[in-house]
Amino acid sequence: MSFFENTQKLIAEASKIMKLDKEVEQILSRPKRIVEVSIPVRLDNGKLEVFSGFRVQHDDSAGPFKGGVRFHPQVNMDEVKALATLMTLKCAVAGIPLGGAKGGIAIDPKKYSKAELERITRKYVQLIAPLIGPDTDVPAPDVNTDPQVMAWIADEYSKLRGRNEFGVVTGKPVPVGGSLGRSDATSQGGAYILRELMKQENCHPQKTSVAIQGYGNAGSYMAEILYKEGYKVVAVSDSKGGTYCKEGLDPTAAMAHKNKYGSVHKCTAACALNNKGAIKQISNEELVELPVEVLVLAALENQITKDNAAKVKAKIVIELANGPIAPEADEILAKNNIIVVPDILANAGGVTVSYFEMVQNSEKFYWESEEVKARLQKVMVKAWKEVVKTKAKYACTYRQAAIIKGLERVSEILSLRGQA
Ligand code: NAD
Repeated sequence: MSFFENTQKLIAEASKIMKLDKEVEQILSRPKRIVEVSIPVRLDNGKLEVFSGFRVQHDDSAGPFKGGVRFHPQVNMDEVKALATLMTLKCAVAGIPLGGAKGGIAIDPKKYSKAELERITRKYVQLIAPLIGPDTDVPAPDVNTDPQVMAWIADEYSKLRGRNEFGVVTGKPVPVGGSLGRSDATSQGGAYILRELMKQENCHPQKTSVAIQGYGNAGSYMAEILYKEGYKVVAVSDSKGGTYCKEGLDPTAAMAHKNKYGSVHKCTAACALNNKGAIKQISNEELVELPVEVLVLAALENQITKDNAAKVKAKIVIELANGPIAPEADEILAKNNIIVVPDILANAGGVTVSYFEMVQNSEKFYWESEEVKARLQKVMVKAWKEVVKTKAKYACTYRQAAIIKGLERVSEILSLRGQA
């Protein structure tokens, strides 16, 4: 089953449990608009290469379409459709007035120079410009895109419109209209949710070991935040592999190693907490099977499948990535009483602070980071409590409860607007 088919299946399951209006289910099972563009760009060596780009707008009943732009060789229409659908549900779970979208370019950015990536980004913006805008569809960072890429998007779109339109994109650098607290928002939001869950389960950070798959934006900030809250981060990994230290790792030292050598694989003894404990090199497969209390998935989709789900030993799995657990794997984890905090709840902090960035852009008034954090915590804790209540009401999993909560919100809006 493809990623999009999996997502449709999740909506169908939740719709059945909550007895969702059939018309609403029909509307939300498909994106409103899908666009594929071809992006011809002259490379530094003088040759022309044509890239495939995508933008999928799933639903905008609640407000402008909203969703990241991914640069990855595996980006394809199916993946973008699935991710756009999850965005609609995510914004609805967080209770923010935005819809769902996603975009991407099928490219391995590591193979191109910064100047080439800038030209590719700008050409992509020219091609999707009729679709996006501060009040219509607002992209953001995702895998392999960062504040610099967002600044290029803002600049290119502003040129096309003949005036500054920084609000066309979020996740920008602070000097070009970015919000304080956006870079670590996804992880901070996930950490607030984990804090609530730990209270509920009567667990304590000081007695909790954590393994983190993926050491990019979401994973590395999560490691820092959890470490500061007293958790023991024992393993980290990225696309090249991972490092394990039973006595704990120092996330800052691991980041320094990644900056120097391009990966957290083969971290040296300097990355062990207080320089104590034996460092072991591990594969990504080994990381997800470690005997830890919390497993954070912060890389890509489909990392836990029916083949490795039974080997997961963590008690809690936090999905900072979108769609990292395949549906058959979800069933195995549930059978083994493993708590899974689903993507549309766990990583909603990113889009929430993106929403704050949109508000600040339109007000042209910028908040202090304490205000951003306090507002983020309020949104995340409220979303968590509503999902917990929904879970109890329907006696279902956290994932089903989060989807039901999202569907309820969008369904109410569609009905009030007279669309279903
Ligand atoms: P990123 O590009 O900054 O980092 C991705 C990380 O995953 C890198 O360290 C990469 O090496 C690693 N990786 C790739 N393939 C891997 C594999 N097979 N095994 C282990 N590690 C692997 O991307 P990001 O922004 O941190 O996004 C990560 C996930 O979080 C994605 O699913 C994304 O959609 C989701 N997410 C991100 C945000 C955000 O604000 N950045 C918000 C919501 C959700």
